[in-house]
Amino acid sequence: HADTAMYRAKRNGRNRYQFYNHQLDREQLERVELENALFHALKHQEFELYYQPQVDITTGLIDGAEALIRWNRPGHGMVSPGCFIPLAEECGLIGEIGDWVLEQACAQMHSWKAKGLHLRVSVNLSALQLETPEFCHHLADCLSRYDLESDQLELELTESILMKQVDQTIQLLEHLDQMGVHLSIDDFGTGYSSLSYLKRFPLDKLKIDQSFVREISVDQDDAIICRTIISMAETLNLKVTAEGVEYPDQLALLAEFGCHQYQGYLFSKPVPADELARLALENHNEPNQTYDI
Ligand code: C2E
Ligand code: MG
Ligand code: MG
Ligand code: MG
Repeated sequence: HADTAMYRAKRNGRNRYQFYNHQLDREQLERVELENALFHALKHQEFELYYQPQVDITTGLIDGAEALIRWNRPGHGMVSPGCFIPLAEECGLIGEIGDWVLEQACAQMHSWKAKGLHLRVSVNLSALQLETPEFCHHLADCLSRYDLESDQLELELTESILMKQVDQTIQLLEHLDQMGVHLSIDDFGTGYSSLSYLKRFPLDKLKIDQSFVREISVDQDDAIICRTIISMAETLNLKVTAEGVEYPDQLALLAEFGCHQYQGYLFSKPVPADELARLALENHNEPNQTYDI
């Protein structure tokens, strides 16, 4: 590669062309390195699930947790999913990573249950996972191996997943719903799902995207959007979770609008499993202690 680039650059007498090619080579190299590192990570158990509490707004009690993957990459510290999930989707590793996440989340619920902690866990899904024909089977198998009720598990889907192949997706979601698994739409409001379709999917919950929550107390439009999503959800009989709640005034407005549940740094950032268990046990003894509506 480098030789060809050099040759072309000499022939054209243009240094910028040569630079451009080297730049491309380096990006490709980094990508291949990252892909290899991801393969390695799966084999050597470098992934970990963190959990962020989901808090009932009325009671102040933790009533669930979202599982969020982290990659403890040697020499790089904790890498956030935004940096590797898109690549895993492109290079076909997301299937295996997704299976690992489901397995790990179920194992965790099982071990919490043994300690008397009954928490519903939400797991994020990629489009490709839903498209694998064995998905439902794998899921059912996981739940039964860890002796879990299927309604302890929630799956988070994005609007783009739902709108991809609507008819097939409805069939699949109906199957999951019949199994008893809870279904939610993540990042709601950022995609292009049509309201008429929303009614056709057997959903349990909408998660208001954090971009609408961020300025809810200063931006009138964002406040209106949140209020509208919440009242629409009410009509459709769906629960609503607000994402990215960082300040008490955001929470106060969401409570006023009738939002059911929230997640965010105000209560806790995502934490390792043991820390989540500690938070949940503590919070059950002293609900509503961290804020004041
Ligand atoms: P998401 O599912 O919408 O998750 C919410 C993101 O917001 C998380 O980022 C979380 O750490 C962050 N967050 C929570 N509270 C706050 C807050 O108060 N303020 C701010 N600014 N951020 C907050 P994270 O963990 O980096 O995950 C990013 C995205 O990566 C997730 O967005 C999800 O789409 C994806 N992801 C994470 N884990 C998995 C996984 O196991 N499988 C798949 N397919 N995707 C995953
Ligand atoms: Mg999510
Ligand atoms: Mg249902
Ligand atoms: Mg989200």
